[in-house]
Amino acid sequence: MSAPFVRTAPSPTGYLHIGNARSLMFNWLFARRHGGRFLLRYDDTDLARSKPEFAEAIAEDLAWLGVVPDASIRQSERIALYDVAAGKLRAAGRLYPCYESADELDRKRKRQLARGLPPVYDRAALKLTAEDRARLEAEGRKAHWRFLLDWEEIGWNDLVRGPSHVDCASLSDPVLVREDGTYPYTLPSVVDDLDIGITHVIRGEDHVTNTAVQIQIMQALGGALPAFGHHNLLTTASGEGLSKRLGHLSLRGLREAGIESLAVAALAVLTGSSDAVRPVSSLDELAGLVDLAHVSRAPARFDEHELETLSARTLHQLDFAAVEDRLRQLGIPASEPFWLAVRGNLARLAEAREWWQVVEGPVETLVADAAFAATAASLLPAEPFDQTTWKSWTQAVAAATGAKGKALFMPLRQALTGRDHGPELAALLPLIGREKALKRLKGERA
Ligand code: GLU
Repeated sequence: MSAPFVRTAPSPTGYLHIGNARSLMFNWLFARRHGGRFLLRYDDTDLARSKPEFAEAIAEDLAWLGVVPDASIRQSERIALYDVAAGKLRAAGRLYPCYESADELDRKRKRQLARGLPPVYDRAALKLTAEDRARLEAEGRKAHWRFLLDWEEIGWNDLVRGPSHVDCASLSDPVLVREDGTYPYTLPSVVDDLDIGITHVIRGEDHVTNTAVQIQIMQALGGALPAFGHHNLLTTASGEGLSKRLGHLSLRGLREAGIESLAVAALAVLTGSSDAVRPVSSLDELAGLVDLAHVSRAPARFDEHELETLSARTLHQLDFAAVEDRLRQLGIPASEPFWLAVRGNLARLAEAREWWQVVEGPVETLVADAAFAATAASLLPAEPFDQTTWKSWTQAVAAATGAKGKALFMPLRQALTGRDHGPELAALLPLIGREKALKRLKGERA
């Protein structure tokens, strides 16, 4: 395959959620896997609902996911191109003016349904003469413009679903230009895909019918057709669609809750695949796992509790290099041994602060048996400490006191860390160091 060019096309009318992440990650990973490029296209032709702050939030959310677009465009800045395309379609007789009001269309649909007919636009406007149109316009009506579909079956080899087809004879001619001259989603999307040279349009299966329509428009405009792929949509555990109103599943909400972005990316695309959901250590690794041809068509039930678990498991296997900057942002100027010591105990990265405090001090220590602690202190080896120090020390303490198992380890853990649980002491002890360890064994805050 020559290098693909894919896009994600969110409308900046709200925050991205996990369902949007599924689509955008499929695209990004596809580009990554095949050495291609990725465009961020803001579908912001709906000026009333599009907000600059949502566009900014989308860029931030992408950055959080580790997704860096190769280019970014806004449809609101490209209206002139859509005007040219609409002119071309008009000239070719594929765009025709209609004057029905929303109410009239609604009544038509109801009558059709009552008669058991599909609620497809009846093309009444095609029969209007020039005089009819002049009269309607004199009444103050403004035309909206529909694309004249060919009543034929449109087929394509879907990247996910395989051979697919839609019979366009069962569809209403789509409105491409509204009364006020603005453009609903369809025409701008087609024009941009052609103009930019998008090679693969990968999106949710709610767009399957749109694809047939868009293929016809693309053919009418002329240009190379992209390949199309439609993945299934994430649903809730009970099978309902995920809605933007699920604020806590917005990418922003997940980030604020301390969920790892790699876990979000992995769960977004691995849910509903034949591969088991598992933690990954990089987007490249994830790109290697995701093959559109293997995305299942069954409902992809999204389990938000799985996100918690996957996030923790993701953290447990991240390299120091992957978290070093983030640790610094948390005020932890840590080195690799610290990270390797504590990562397995974290559900959230921010919890590393607690263990940094334990290592650096001061810690309120817990010494219940001062005599035992004093014996242990007297047996603490000289520095340098390493991973073996804990074992040799505790063996010596066991030999001297007769304590073993929990009776041996718990008082030492409590004295050294002030806690009953935590990372392996073999790894923590060298980080705490001899001086602080001795003080803590004496019951001093250190
Ligand atoms: N703005 C459209 C959406 O979010 C884009 C669909 C597409 O990928 O063409 O549904």
